[in-house]
Amino acid sequence: MGSRHAGTTVRSRGREVAPSSGSQPSVSPYSGSSSSGSPVSGSWPVALPAAPRAVARRRPAALLAALVVGATVALVGTQALPAADARESVAVEELLGSDAEGLLETELSPQLAITEVEARARLEEVAASRQARAERVAQEQAAAAEAAEAAAEAARPKASPPIKGARLTSCFCPRWGTMHWGIDLAAPMLTPEYAVEDGVVLRAGAASGYGLVVYILGVSGDVTVYGHMEKITVAAGDVVRAGDQIALLGSRGQSTGPHLHFEVHSGGVDGKRVDPVAWLRERGVEL
Ligand SMILES: [Zn+2]
Repeated sequence: MGSRHAGTTVRSRGREVAPSSGSQPSVSPYSGSSSSGSPVSGSWPVALPAAPRAVARRRPAALLAALVVGATVALVGTQALPAADARESVAVEELLGSDAEGLLETELSPQLAITEVEARARLEEVAASRQARAERVAQEQAAAAEAAEAAAEAARPKASPPIKGARLTSCFCPRWGTMHWGIDLAAPMLTPEYAVEDGVVLRAGAASGYGLVVYILGVSGDVTVYGHMEKITVAAGDVVRAGDQIALLGSRGQSTGPHLHFEVHSGGVDGKRVDPVAWLRERGVEL
């Protein structure tokens, strides 16, 4: 009886112990994980949300790397405890998901950075490259403009008739018992008159007999003379090119009607006067 009671008591105590001891193993992994994993699972959720933000402004990438390394070490150290391992993984992912987002935007990785000196050198390279390209373009444009100018100069006629569409009314020949030292070209009043070759205006103004007169020393070395015009449109010293307008036709001086009196003095103002028709023909100009 007593022994049975005792036995019963023992069994009951054993039964009482058995459930309590059976419930303890379910608690011990929990407490065991909290004891071995307390530095990680206990401190991280509390300390990290505040600490990374404070340090992040200085070295966000370094902090991130340290966190990843620390998490890896923690995971390896607690692999013996599956429950703790799973909880820590979740904690690290939550941490990376929240804090790493801002960190990744400010600095991707230390390996992708260059020094400020390297960046300045790169800027100088870019500036030098741009300047070289601009200079090359400018040179090409200058060369093109020069070529176009040369082409225009080559195509430009080097001789011009003194009047376009004129009618030869008097030749370089004896007339009325005296020599006529030029030719007369009749045309309507104010018809434009042109320099017959490139040159410089020697004289432009009033002259007895001619009314108004223009002398031009040409590149050929000869002087061409234009008389009787109504209006002169150049001045002494002007540089003219073949075909440039120099005057408007008139009938001033000893003239019987609107016309241009045109002479050529060979080799200079006081040179021998030659037949302008032949002189122009030599230069490809037919009157
Ligand atoms: Zn004449």
